[in-house]
Formats: sequence, C-alpha cells, structure tokens
Amino acid sequence: MSGDANALLDEIAHIGVDRQRGGYTRLVFSPPELELREWFARRAGERGLRVETDGNGILWAWWDIEGAERRDVVVTGSHLDSVPGGGNFDGPLGVASALAAVDLLRDRGVRPVRPLAVAVFPEEEGSRFGVACLGTRLLAGLVDPERVRELRDESGRSFAEVATDAGIDPALIGPDPARLQSIAAFVELHVEQGRGLIDLGQPVAVAGAIIAHGRWHMRIDGRGDHAGATRMVDRQDPVVVAAETIRALRAHALVVDEARGTVGRIKVTPGGTNVIAASVDLWLDVRHRDETAVRRIVSEVVAATERSADAEGCTVAVTEQSFSPMVAFDAALRERMREVLPAAPVLDTGAGHDAGVLAAAIPTGMLFVRNPTGASHTPAEVAAPEDVAAGAIALADVLESLITR
Ligand SMILES: [Zn+2]
Repeated sequence: MSGDANALLDEIAHIGVDRQRGGYTRLVFSPPELELREWFARRAGERGLRVETDGNGILWAWWDIEGAERRDVVVTGSHLDSVPGGGNFDGPLGVASALAAVDLLRDRGVRPVRPLAVAVFPEEEGSRFGVACLGTRLLAGLVDPERVRELRDESGRSFAEVATDAGIDPALIGPDPARLQSIAAFVELHVEQGRGLIDLGQPVAVAGAIIAHGRWHMRIDGRGDHAGATRMVDRQDPVVVAAETIRALRAHALVVDEARGTVGRIKVTPGGTNVIAASVDLWLDVRHRDETAVRRIVSEVVAATERSADAEGCTVAVTEQSFSPMVAFDAALRERMREVLPAAPVLDTGAGHDAGVLAAAIPTGMLFVRNPTGASHTPAEVAAPEDVAAGAIALADVLESLITR
C-alpha cells in the first residue's frame, strides 16, 4: 500500500531475527543486512527512484528532476544495520518512513524544484567493526580510510574483505566533499531512544541537540590476597574503592538536572570468589547538554574515588577515552521544521546518530517518533502503528517544505 511505513516495516520483520537474544541482529554487510539493502533497492526502484551505491557503500535512491543537476538536494534516510539483539525500529523506521514519505508527496501531487534522495548508511551502530556511524564518518572525511580497511570484526575478517564480498571496492572508500556540498539539507527520522515524548503526549518531536558525552577508563590498583586469611584491617581492596566510584557517580549525576552517569562495564582482576582483587578496571559514561557539567561530574567522581583509594591504600589512574561535545542541529532548519510541525516539541537526545556526524558538514535536522517503552538497543523498543504513520506524515510535511522552494 502506498505511503504506509507500517506495511514496509512488516515486509522486513522476518529478516535477521535473532532467536538466541530476541529481537534482530543485522550486522553490516552480513546476510540479513545485505537482504535489507536489496529490499530497499527493490522498493526504491519500484517507485522510480534511481538507486546508486557510492564508494562508501551508502545507498542513495534519487527522485531526480528531469534535466536538472543534483545540486541543493534534500536528503532523508537512516540505517538498516542493528546492534546484536536490537529492535525493528532503530534505523529501519527512518528508511521505511522515507519511502512512505515519497509516496505521500506523490499522492499530494507535490512538484519538487530540487532533487530528493533517500539514503541508507552502513554500520551506524558500529556493532561489527567498532566505529559507530562508519559510513557517514567516511563520507565526511572524519576517519582514515586506511585504518577502516584494516578494521576487523569478531571473526578476524577485515573491513576490506567483508566490503569486497558485499560488492563494494574498499579502494574507493573515503571522503566525498563534492557529494556533501551538493546537499542543502539532511533530515533523519528516528525512533526516540528515551521517554521524552511519552511524558509530553506527542507522537513526533523535532531534535534540538545531541548532548555532550564522554567515556573515561578508570584503573584502581590494590593488593591481591586471600579472602579468608587476610584480616579486614589489613586489606587494600580495589573493589571497595570501585563501589565508592559507582555510588559517587550516581550521587553527582542525580543532582544535576538531565545528567546521565553510567558504569556499565567493570573488570575485576583476577576475579575469584575467594580472592581479594588486585585491580579493577571500570568505565564511566557521562552525558549532559552542557559539557562543563559533564566534566564537573567526572572530576567530582574522580576526587571521591581518590579519597576512597587513599583510605584503602589503593591507587587510581584515569584516562579519557572519548569526548564528543554537544552537537546542535542547524537552527534555521529546526525553525523551518517547527513551522511545519507546530505541535511537535523540541527534544534533545543522548544517543549518537549519522545525523550528528553530518551536522558538522551540512544543515541537518532530526525527527523523533514516540517509543512507548522508552527502551532502545533491545527487543523492547517499539513504536505504535499510529505513531509510525504520524511520523511518515510529519517527514513528508518537512520534505515538502524543503523541496518545493
Ligand atoms: Zn539508529
């Protein structure tokens, strides 16, 4: 049926089902993801869109204007790869909604004055090669192609080998400034990965910003010993210090409005039930709109850890592994989207997206569709059919405004 994103999602609901984890596992250039790419090319071709694969393995389906160059083009789209055991909406919702929006625009008899493309970006999740938004990072020249060719998946196969098998020449990956310069606006529709729209009672939001986020590795060294023979007062136990780190992160993140602080990964060495640990490695993930708030939370947590380590006779070393400042989406584009969608609230997001990468290079905006569980990167992620339909209409409204003037 024309203009029906729900029907398009139903068509792919059997592809890449993960019976072990639940949900879907659609790693980039794996059989399920290649099947999804074929499905996309077929459905786009049926709509008369001209499909091409660029040097970075990005699919572009063009609604061209006869006789006109591809200049000042408008692009929408998202990704079809998933995390292991992810949902059917993170990525595919944006692709299905883009195809549905093309149908809606044609049903409305819209006559574009500039070309529109629907794009599918590979390896947004970084679940196979470890670099999130790999396709858009290559396109924008934010990652070294030589390094990318050598990235390896869990089975030890290189990006170059895997891409070759998928019909993509790894020699051709890399920045494509001419293509970027031809894009006047990029709008990505995405399922919301949080609870903002539930509380606001709206099906669709316009993105304000991707909040600042960083990762820090903390190493706490103590003294390994026997759990039975060592008196409590004689211990230098790094696990006790780590407990203080986790407690302090919760306490400091809780008192800063809208801050997020997580320890989701801890390695206790050697890791025996009857062994006092010699060391603990743990990772802090801290996010907030204001990067100074992020840094303040981290420094408070580090200070609390150092005090605890002193008392316990342990030492602490902290390294920043990554830091991404806030990405503000294009203000003019956001205002245009708000004019078109006056009921839609503006929401920030704590999750990364291809749109966040492209925002550094071209005017970029995002739409979020309500997710009644607020959960993502799990099979629990969901969107109601009426919200999916509302999202496709909202995207069509925004695109209509962008391609007709
Ligand atoms: Zn996504």
